Amino acid sequence: MSTHTIAFIGLGVMGGPMAANLVRAGFDVVGYNRSPQRAQALAAAGGRVAASAIEAATGADTVITMLPDSPDVESVVLGEGGVLECMRPGSLLVDMSTIRPDVARRLAETGRDSGVRVLDAPVSGGEQGAVEAKLSIMVGGEEEAFEAARPVFDALGTTVVHVGPAGAGQTVKAANQLIVAGVIGLVSEALVFVDAHGVDPDQAVRVLAGGLAGSTVLDRKAASMLARDFTPGFRVDLHHKDLGIVTAAAREAGVAIPLGGLVATLMGSLRAQGHGALDHSALLLELERMSGRGETADS
Ligand code: NAD
Repeated sequence: MSTHTIAFIGLGVMGGPMAANLVRAGFDVVGYNRSPQRAQALAAAGGRVAASAIEAATGADTVITMLPDSPDVESVVLGEGGVLECMRPGSLLVDMSTIRPDVARRLAETGRDSGVRVLDAPVSGGEQGAVEAKLSIMVGGEEEAFEAARPVFDALGTTVVHVGPAGAGQTVKAANQLIVAGVIGLVSEALVFVDAHGVDPDQAVRVLAGGLAGSTVLDRKAASMLARDFTPGFRVDLHHKDLGIVTAAAREAGVAIPLGGLVATLMGSLRAQGHGALDHSALLLELERMSGRGETADS
């Protein structure tokens, strides 16, 4: 069997471990990141490092992008100097970043014009899911392209679902971000609430996690929230971006998301106070502030 070469562009919190897992699964991986020190982990794992996105993508069977936001993906993929220019017909472009569904659809249309098969395949599961290759991957695009990319997805995640045509993966990811933000907001409120009543929050979390209030957020985030460790993980800046995607897409569809709108405001407020680089579980700080409790924003 000939080697399958994957160009991996964007080697950050998520992309770094994902690229390393692809090396472990036997793919030939050539990575590129704008800040070169981010590529060191890939080199240590046995991958190759390119000096530009174009250099990485030239000759690749599959190009994966894992970049912060829609404009980053557009600038790397589209237009003059974009990787679509150098990709050969029949190859796959898989954008795994969380971006706007309409941008995902535009990437697919532009790819089709040059014979490149494009999938939107955003992920959920956080840094831990990326490191352990246990991501949930929600895929939009043509069925045949999905099947072709399946071995790549299987090396990165355990729940891989083709949810519909181009853009559908990003729509489901937006729904995912709506749920996660809402749950973090409610867990934060519950922690402030039990603490205000003098109940030990550690004991409260233990029992809450075993009942209907149990959730992955409670399991994975409550302990670090109580320890006031907000090392990212998933940055407030990125969740703020995602809630912007959710509110715009809901408006476009004429759908009311009252709880989503509220949690988007709380996340925006947290960010406006200078906490954009913290983990999104720092939403606890915002809920504490509103009740005049907890440490101050700067402490
Ligand atoms: P990150 O900021 O850690 O990584 C992004 C990387 O892309 C950085 O290393 C940056 O230097 C690089 N980059 C930016 N512009 C570039 C360019 N033009 N060319 C090459 N490299 C460039 O972000 P992340 O946490 O890895 O998230 C990546 C995407 O995945 C985002 O869309 C995010 O919303 C999504 N996501 C993140 C998580 C998480 O828990 N961190 C979970 C699920 C989805």
